[in-house]
Amino acid sequence: MKLGFGGHVGRTLSALRRPRPDHFPALRSVVLAVKQRPIHAKATEFLQNNQPDWTESMHDVREAISKICSRYTDEYWLDKDNKHEFPLDLHRDLANNGWLGICMPEEYGGSALGISEATVMMQTISESGAGMTGASSIHMNIFGLEPVVKFGTLEQKKRMLTPLIQGKEKACFGVTEPNTGLDTLKLQSTAEKRGDVYILNGTKIWTSTAQIADKILILVRTTPLDQVSKPTHGLSLFYTTLDRTAVQVTEIPKLGRAAVDSNVIFFENWKVPAEDLIGEEGNGFKQIMVGMNAERVLVGAEALGLGYAALRRAARYAQERSVFGRPIGKNQGIQHPLAESWMKLEAARLMLYLAARLYDQGHSSGEHANAGKYLAAEAAFEACERAVLTHGAWAMPKNTMLRDI
Ligand SMILES: Cc1cc2nc3c(=O)[nH]c(=O)nc-3n(C[C@H](O)[C@H](O)[C@H](O)COP(=O)(O)OP(=O)(O)OC[C@H]3O[C@@H](n4cnc5c(N)ncnc54)[C@H](O)[C@@H]3O)c2cc1C
Repeated sequence: MKLGFGGHVGRTLSALRRPRPDHFPALRSVVLAVKQRPIHAKATEFLQNNQPDWTESMHDVREAISKICSRYTDEYWLDKDNKHEFPLDLHRDLANNGWLGICMPEEYGGSALGISEATVMMQTISESGAGMTGASSIHMNIFGLEPVVKFGTLEQKKRMLTPLIQGKEKACFGVTEPNTGLDTLKLQSTAEKRGDVYILNGTKIWTSTAQIADKILILVRTTPLDQVSKPTHGLSLFYTTLDRTAVQVTEIPKLGRAAVDSNVIFFENWKVPAEDLIGEEGNGFKQIMVGMNAERVLVGAEALGLGYAALRRAARYAQERSVFGRPIGKNQGIQHPLAESWMKLEAARLMLYLAARLYDQGHSSGEHANAGKYLAAEAAFEACERAVLTHGAWAMPKNTMLRDI
C-alpha cells in the first residue's frame, strides 16, 4: 500500500510543524499532562504525539487530527448526545480538510494512506473526547467502501467514492438482521432481478447513521440458501441510494452514542438499479470480508482512545478532589487501578499498531487484528469503569456537566 501523502491531506500536513519530544512518556508525564488540562483545553494540549515507534506520517496525522478535534469541546459532545443530533460539523470539518478519504485511492480524491495512519486518526478522534460518537460518525468512510474499491467498475468508483470522500454523501451499512444476528449467512432479505432493476424485500437492524445517510451498502440474498452449493454463495452486495419512499427507517432509542443513530430499516418492493450491484452477483459475502481485519484494528483504536480519555479524566479528578484532608489520588486504592488500566491500554496499543503495520506490509494480520481489538475493548471498558468509580457520586449524571450544578 502506498504510504506517501496525496491530495488535500498532503498539503495540509506539509504546512504543519510538529514538536518532537525525544523521551518515551512515563506514567508520571501522562498524569502531569492530565493535571494541566482544564476542561476546555485544546486536544493538542493533552494528546501525546511522541511515540518513538510511529512513522513521520503517523505523527503528522496525530497532530492534524488533534487540531481539528480541539475545536469540539466536551460540552459539544454532551449536547449532541442529549439532543440525538448527528455531529455534522465534525464530519464537514474532516471532509473539508481531506480526511474522509484517508485510505481511499488518490484518483477519487483520497490520500491512499495505510491503516497505520487511519488507526492514529480514529484513536485521536475518540481520545479527544469525541469518543465512539465522533469516531462512528465517520467510521464508514475509512474502510466501509473497500468492496467498491476492490470490486467496483471504474464508473462505479468515480460515482460512489468521489462524493463520499468529499463529504457530499453519507453512507450506512446494512448487514445485520433481526432474526439472524451474527449468523450473516442466514440473512433473509432478498433481491430478485427484473430487467434492469433488482427488487429488494426485507429488514435490517442496528443500521448506524441511516437517519442521515444518502446511500447504503446492503447485503441481500439473490439465490435461496437451499439452492447454493455453499452458504457463502448467493449473497449480493449493492451500494445504492437510500430511497426513503421505499425504505422505512425507524430509530432505535438507546442510552449511549445517541448522537449517532441506530435504526431498523424495512423495505418492500424496493427497486434498486442493476448498475448499483457491486462485483459479481452471488459473491457479496466474499466482498464484505475484504478489509475486515483493517476494520477490526480501527474499532480497537476507537476503544483505545476512549480508554485514554476516561483515564485522563479520572487522573485529573483524583488530583483535584480532596476528602479526608488530601486529594483522593494520594491513596493507592485510587492510584493502582488507574495505573494498571494505563498499562493495559498501552499493551493493547502495541498489539493494535503491530496488527496495522502487518496489514500495511501485506502480511496476514488476522490473529493480531482480532487480539488487538479484544485487548483494546477490554482495557477501555475497564478504564471507563474505573474512571466512573474514581468520580464517586460525581460520575456525570446523564444530562449534566459538573459546572451546571
Ligand atoms: C451500536 C451498534 C451499531 C451497529 N451498527 C451496525 C451497522 O451499521 N450495520 C450493521 O449491519 N450492523 C450493525 N450492528 C450490528 C453488530 O455488528 C452485530 O452484528 C450485532 O450487534 C449482533 O447482535 P445480535 O443481538 O443480533 O447478536 P446475536 O447473534 O443474537 O448474539 C447474541 C449473543 O450471543 C452470542 N453468540 C452468538 N452466537 C454464539 C456462539 N456460536 N457461541 C457463543 N456465543 C454466541 C453473541 O456473542 C452475543 O453475545 C451494530 C450494533 C450495535 C450495537
